[in-house]
Amino acid sequence: MKYCKKCVMPDTRPGIQFDSEGVCSACRHHEEKAKVDWDKRWKELEDLADRYRRKDGYYDCIVTVSGGKDSHYQLYIFKEKLKMNPLLVNVFNFSWTDIGWMNYNNMSDVFGADTISLHLNRKLARKFLWKALVKMGSPTWYWDRAVYAFPLRMGINFKIPLIIYGENVPYEYGGFQTEETYSAMNQISNDVVKEVAWDYWLDDDIQMKDLNTCIYPTKEEIASAKLEPIYLSYFVNWEGHKNMELMKKYGFKSLDDTKEWKRAGYIEDYDQIDTKGYLVHPWLKYPKFGHARATDVGSIWVRNGRITREEAVKLVKENDYKLDPEALKDFLDFVGHTEEEFWKAVEPFWNKDLFEKVNGKWILKDPIWKQK
Ligand SMILES: [Zn+2]
Repeated sequence: MKYCKKCVMPDTRPGIQFDSEGVCSACRHHEEKAKVDWDKRWKELEDLADRYRRKDGYYDCIVTVSGGKDSHYQLYIFKEKLKMNPLLVNVFNFSWTDIGWMNYNNMSDVFGADTISLHLNRKLARKFLWKALVKMGSPTWYWDRAVYAFPLRMGINFKIPLIIYGENVPYEYGGFQTEETYSAMNQISNDVVKEVAWDYWLDDDIQMKDLNTCIYPTKEEIASAKLEPIYLSYFVNWEGHKNMELMKKYGFKSLDDTKEWKRAGYIEDYDQIDTKGYLVHPWLKYPKFGHARATDVGSIWVRNGRITREEAVKLVKENDYKLDPEALKDFLDFVGHTEEEFWKAVEPFWNKDLFEKVNGKWILKDPIWKQK
C-alpha cells in the first residue's frame, strides 16, 4: 500500500488517484478549494434558487436527509438562508439510536418542513442485508440503493425538479468521479453502490417485484421531468466538522452530548450516529481495502488543519481495525444471524494482497505507521 504524503489515505481507496509527488486527488481538490471565490459561488446558488423558487406555495425543492448534521445544514441553507420551501425526503433506518431519532425530529421541529420517509420492507431487508454481506461484502446495498433512487423518484412523482444533496463524495474525498461540478446527475453511477445485474440477487426470498425501491429512474424519465440534482458542497465551503458546530446552535446533538454510545473505531462522535447496525457496512472497507473510518476522518482533519499527519497516523493505528461491538450486535439482531456466522461470512473478503494471517488474526502488511 502507498499512502498519500499529505493525509493518511492509501491508494487502495477505490478510484483515488495519486500524482507524481505522491499526493492524493482528495488533497489536491482540497487545495483547489482554497482558490475558490465562495461569494461568487453563493451568488450562483442564489441564482439557481431563484430559477426554481415558486410563487404558488408549492414545494420549491427536495432536500435529501438522514437527520444528521449535514441534513440540518442543508435545511439551514435552503430554509433559513435562501427562504425556500423544501420537501424533505428520507429513507428510514432499520434501527435508530435515541440521539438519531432526536436529531431526526429536531430537524423539522427547528426548521419546519414536511418529510416523506420511505420505510423499506423489513422482512425482505433481513434476507437482503445478509445476502449482500455474504455475496458482495456490502450488507447495506439494498438500503443505499434506495437512498440514491428514492429522491429522484419523488422528484419525478411530485414534479419537484430541484433535488439537493450534501457533499460530492468522490470529488471531496477521492473516487471515480473527479470533476468539480454542482450537478449530482451522475451520482447514481459513482460506484458507491455497485451496479450489478438483477439476477445477481434473485432467489426464492428476493424477487423482482420486491425491488421497486432499488430501480433508478431511466435517463428518459429524468430528462422529461427536467430533474436538477445538485451538490451543495459545490456552492459553499463544505466542512463536516464546521457544519456540526454550527448546527449545535440549532439543536443538533452529538453522541458526546448524551453519552448514549461510545463508539469503537471512530475518532469523532457526530457523523453517522443515527443508527448502529449500519456501521458494519463502512467497517467492511477495512478487510477489503485496508482502511476504514479513522482513515477517512483523519484525512479530512489533516486537510482542514485540525490535526497533524502524525496525529492522524496514531488515530488510524488505534482505531481503524475496530468494529464497534454494539454496531455488530444491532446488525446481527436485525438480520438474525450469530457472530460466528458473521465472521465466517467476512472471511473471504480479507484482501490477501493487503493482509496476512498471523496466529489466526488478519494483520495489515504495510500499515501507515511502519512506512518510512
Ligand atoms: Zn491526501
